[in-house]
Amino acid sequence: MNISKKIILLPAVIIVLLGGAGLLVIDEEIREGLGVRVERELKWLAESALEGLVISNRPMTVTNVDAIAKRFGEISGARITFIDEFGVVKGDSKVAVGTISTLANHKDRIEVSQAFKTGLGVAKRYSETLRQDFFYVAVFKTLSIQGQQINYYARASFSSLTIRRQIVHMRYALLSILAAGVIVITFLTVVVLHWLSLSNEKEKIYLENQVLARNTEIELMHELDSLLSACSEIADAKEVIKQVLPSILTDSQGAISVYKSSRDKLRTQMYWGGSWNENKNFGPSQCWALRKGHRHLSSDIHKGIVCEHYANTGELSSLCIPLIAHGETIGVLHLLKNEINTEIATLAEAIAKRIGIAIANIELKFSLREQAIKDTLTNLYNRRYLFESLEQFVARALRTKSHIGIIMVDIDYFKKLNDSYGHDAGDVALKAIANFFKEVTRASDVVCRYGGEEFCIVCPDSSSEDTLFIAEKLCFGVRALGIKVSATEEIKLTLSAGVSTFPNVEESIKKTISEADQALYQAKHDGRNCVRVS
Ligand code: GH3
Ligand code: MG
Ligand code: MG
Repeated sequence: MNISKKIILLPAVIIVLLGGAGLLVIDEEIREGLGVRVERELKWLAESALEGLVISNRPMTVTNVDAIAKRFGEISGARITFIDEFGVVKGDSKVAVGTISTLANHKDRIEVSQAFKTGLGVAKRYSETLRQDFFYVAVFKTLSIQGQQINYYARASFSSLTIRRQIVHMRYALLSILAAGVIVITFLTVVVLHWLSLSNEKEKIYLENQVLARNTEIELMHELDSLLSACSEIADAKEVIKQVLPSILTDSQGAISVYKSSRDKLRTQMYWGGSWNENKNFGPSQCWALRKGHRHLSSDIHKGIVCEHYANTGELSSLCIPLIAHGETIGVLHLLKNEINTEIATLAEAIAKRIGIAIANIELKFSLREQAIKDTLTNLYNRRYLFESLEQFVARALRTKSHIGIIMVDIDYFKKLNDSYGHDAGDVALKAIANFFKEVTRASDVVCRYGGEEFCIVCPDSSSEDTLFIAEKLCFGVRALGIKVSATEEIKLTLSAGVSTFPNVEESIKKTISEADQALYQAKHDGRNCVRVS
């Protein structure tokens, strides 16, 4: 048996038990109460019958008296008997008039003898005349009939059968009420249970949907986490945000703006949910979230306070959340949506946290890599990067059957500069020459600080002539470059350069580099300020 059946049956069983117990108590009360009520009714009938005799005021013959007894009996349904003061029966509603005179003297009947003494007699006994049990009430009064004072008994009685029938009727009525109660309560219980089960089902479906939505959200957040942590460049993060965020922040448009290194401006670098038509370059003072240091929702308490960097949000609510990583604000997340409630704002905050950390990590990775492959003074690639990248250049040159030009450069008499103007002036000169190299060379060329005041320039897709031309261009340019060694003084420097091209006879890039180095020595040997080809 399932729980709902038990719940239906339980009240019904309780009602039946309580009803049954109540029925027994009421039945007992009825039986007692009925005795009193029957006695009162019979007394009243007997008295009324005597009054009937007085009102009829006819001679007290058996015929007259019996007629009145029969009338009263017919009306009341009780047995009415008239008895004179000597105990002679003068009329009886249940006995034929012809046989009245044959009835025994009633003077000794319990109720009659009692009535004689007190005016009222009650008895429950067997009737010899009608051969069944009766409940008798007799009254004895003095009547005034046709000017004479006559003592007379009137006796009213019900057969036990009649009383029992009344009790049975009452029991039926009680049982009917009990049955109706059980049916009504069972019906109400069924209705209430059905209603409860319907609302339970609705609540269950709602909760299941909520759990499903939360699970999906958690899964998507995990996915976002793992994708973001796998990003090594901002471009990767851009793609992840564009693809994943529309599934988490549904029906929304958003963007990520990041502080420029100057920290006086922010630039919108990533977006999702369609193109971002808002201001993509703005100052921190134009964003309320950056000014407040925490999220700013345009539909919050102060409706209408929208950040200045939004061009036109229309009917949409806007939300800005600062991106914080390692205790520093690195940017801001923007969200535009029809309605942004607290739940969505909290979700967006969790996303902003992840994106902030991801961007900071990408920037950290980038700066660590930059530090590893670049020289801090000149910001040129270092020798380690040169040998790392050479492999790729060689593979490509062999595949495309092209050449790689190698230029080894050394600043002439650099020691003298240090000695004459100091080490700082030497650093300034190194930086100036490095910047000049970067300006003059192509984006595909790799300019490295090989060590001290020596440089190595790798020129992919360059023939021997091309490389020589570039080397000459570098030497010529530096010769013309004025280097400020103090506030008032500017000096000129010269370069010596050696050039070699890969592939050469040996077909080894290291060999090409050493040949370029030897050509450089040759240039030094030939008096400096010149280029020599290996
Ligand atoms: P040469 O024409 O034969 O190349 O003579 P040089 O003086 O340029 O060559 P040398 O090898 O004698 O001296 C190179 C000098 O470069 C020595 C070193 O102090 C200086 N130098 C190397 N690295 C740096 C640097 O980072 N900053 C400064 N200021 N000087 C540097
Ligand atoms: Mg040197
Ligand atoms: Mg030198």
